[in-house]
Amino acid sequence: MSWEANVRKVVPYTPGEQPGGKHIVKLNTNECPYPPAPAVEKMLKEESYEDLRLYPAPDAGNLVEALASYHGVKKEQVFAGVGSDDVISMAFLTFFNSSKPVFFPDVTYSFYPVWADVYKIPYETKMLDKDFRLVKEDYVTENGGIIIPNPNAPTGLLEPLENIEYIVKNNPESIVIIDEAYVDFAGEGASALPLISRYDNLLVIRTFSKSRALAGLRIGYAVGNERLIKFLNDVKYSINSYTLGRPSLLLGEASIKDDDYFKQTRDKIISTRERLKKDLSALGFTFGDSKSNFIFATHEKYRAKEIFEHLKIEGIYVRYFNSPRIDDHLRITVGTDEEADILVKALDKYMKEAGV
Ligand SMILES: *Cc1c(COP(=O)(O)O)cnc(C)c1O
Repeated sequence: MSWEANVRKVVPYTPGEQPGGKHIVKLNTNECPYPPAPAVEKMLKEESYEDLRLYPAPDAGNLVEALASYHGVKKEQVFAGVGSDDVISMAFLTFFNSSKPVFFPDVTYSFYPVWADVYKIPYETKMLDKDFRLVKEDYVTENGGIIIPNPNAPTGLLEPLENIEYIVKNNPESIVIIDEAYVDFAGEGASALPLISRYDNLLVIRTFSKSRALAGLRIGYAVGNERLIKFLNDVKYSINSYTLGRPSLLLGEASIKDDDYFKQTRDKIISTRERLKKDLSALGFTFGDSKSNFIFATHEKYRAKEIFEHLKIEGIYVRYFNSPRIDDHLRITVGTDEEADILVKALDKYMKEAGV
């Protein structure tokens, strides 16, 4: 047991279940219910298997250029990684090196405290208000950095850009990271990207996993000013020069360039989300006005945990978090209209049988 004293011990993040089987309705990890863009399939078929013997471009050049052009920034302002989880983890390591605590909301992406722990970064959570809204004033006391998802997970709520700007502007001594995993579902004017040219302490992080239907490929990226991106790259090249493989680079670039398909599927998900809100309300669920691809709902009469367990028996997977303040909520991913029908029918049946 002598070596155990020097082991880095952590309590790991718990990802959502990835159940097997064909007849499952999977609404538990916010994946896209539609396939990736047709341009991705085409590229998958054309891709050279022989080239796999070669290392990929360490700077993820073509993908980074496609992203820069998509967002109207310079390629020196984009950093790509293996899912946004990898990019956020690199950003924690690069930018959060103070003895002062890093701030993030108490109800948020449960990976943040895990990264803080593994890198031994002190942190302090800031309580959302009773409606799960951010209290922006809480973020302007001394800190070692800030990370906020917008829209937030698992609440699905979008904070107005003025509140985000207030936090960025009043923290010139810290790096503020806005995790925009769900921003594509939030409509125009939601993203903090336009603020990047005015604030050198702002880093915006995005992913291909939700709105681009490429969770299986693992691509995420950060956009910020050139100095931030250079510092991120310095750390990346000090750990692993080749993070994204050749298939990811090629398929990711194809996805970015197929904008029509992207908009179509995004709009379909938004329309199913609005429909599902009506159906869930009719069943007596209450929830905030989600601007993401999931709904975070609770019911006055039925316990979330019991609904969760019952749905699972029916082959319908949603996400339940046994955590303070949210242990009577379900996070339900917006799937297709057909999946919404199956879910609503199962909920209706459950309530009728359970009575109350
Ligand atoms: C899903 C999610 C991520 C991670 O996404 P990947 O790109 O698949 O690693 C990051 N942040 C939030 C808030 C998420 O919900």
